[in-house]
Amino acid sequence: MVLELNIQLKPLSESRIMAQQTLHRPQIVTPPPQTATTYSYTAWVFFALMHLACLPVLFVGWSPIAIGMAVALYGVRMFAITGGYHRYFSHRSFKTSRGVQFFLALLGASAAQQGPLWWAANHRHHHHFSDQPGDLHSPKQQGFFMAHIGWIPLQQNLPIRWNLIPDFAKYPELRWLDQNHILAPFALGALTFALGSLLETFAPGLGTNGPQMLIWGFFISTVALYHGTFTINSLAHTWGQRRYATKDDSRNNFWLALLTLGEGWHNNHHYYASSVRQGFYWWEIDITYYVLWSMARLGLVWDLKQVPRHLRDRR
Ligand SMILES: [Zn+2]
Ligand SMILES: [Zn+2]
Repeated sequence: MVLELNIQLKPLSESRIMAQQTLHRPQIVTPPPQTATTYSYTAWVFFALMHLACLPVLFVGWSPIAIGMAVALYGVRMFAITGGYHRYFSHRSFKTSRGVQFFLALLGASAAQQGPLWWAANHRHHHHFSDQPGDLHSPKQQGFFMAHIGWIPLQQNLPIRWNLIPDFAKYPELRWLDQNHILAPFALGALTFALGSLLETFAPGLGTNGPQMLIWGFFISTVALYHGTFTINSLAHTWGQRRYATKDDSRNNFWLALLTLGEGWHNNHHYYASSVRQGFYWWEIDITYYVLWSMARLGLVWDLKQVPRHLRDRR
């Protein structure tokens, strides 16, 4: 495999370092993409099938354990996206071991949002151009629908932007996962089906079965996870309060923070992107941070970066 690592490190201005920094981020040398509407129809068909696969819920019915599984797999995988794909792989806001790093990547991949290198490279691009011409997903530049989901199946956005993620592309296991990312959601789907089938045989009182557990635990949970995650690119740039005068339209939104385990404090995040904590004050609920804080107590992660108090309190 040929890796094209195209890095040019340029000095950042001091004000940029203070206000919008993402530590260790390589400078972007790719030109902003031109406005294009060339779609990968394979990618659209994939999204459509994921949504259509929820419809058999009308036939398989529901059970408390199937709905519980959907909620649990939403929560666990949302954490993998927010704590893993976003705060770790995109922003390096904490450190961890190679084993935990791969575990976070694998769990994130099971959300069927491609691999961590693809996801994090695109997200670094977003921070560089946020709501300016060239941003991959900006309600201001391309409209709400394109910012929410329409940017993903664009041909130009499907390849991994290797030059934006050299710090993690050096790990062969992560490159392997990115190129085989589809295996993770397939495995999770198969596991939910197998669990439902086992429960039907050994615990029939629970009222579930393989197809029901697959529809709720995998398809409905994954589609909810899609739109929960995507709200940060669409709604969190249009709906909410702006505490800091960042160069973009990012907002703080309590409801989005609940839905996304803390990512709704998006104006805070664009203001100081390398902070592991996006809810800057105690009343800004940030469940991802609470989990990472707990993992730090257990020694699983360390060096959690925080926003300096004097910058946090500056308006
Ligand atoms: Zn943003
Ligand atoms: Zn970010």
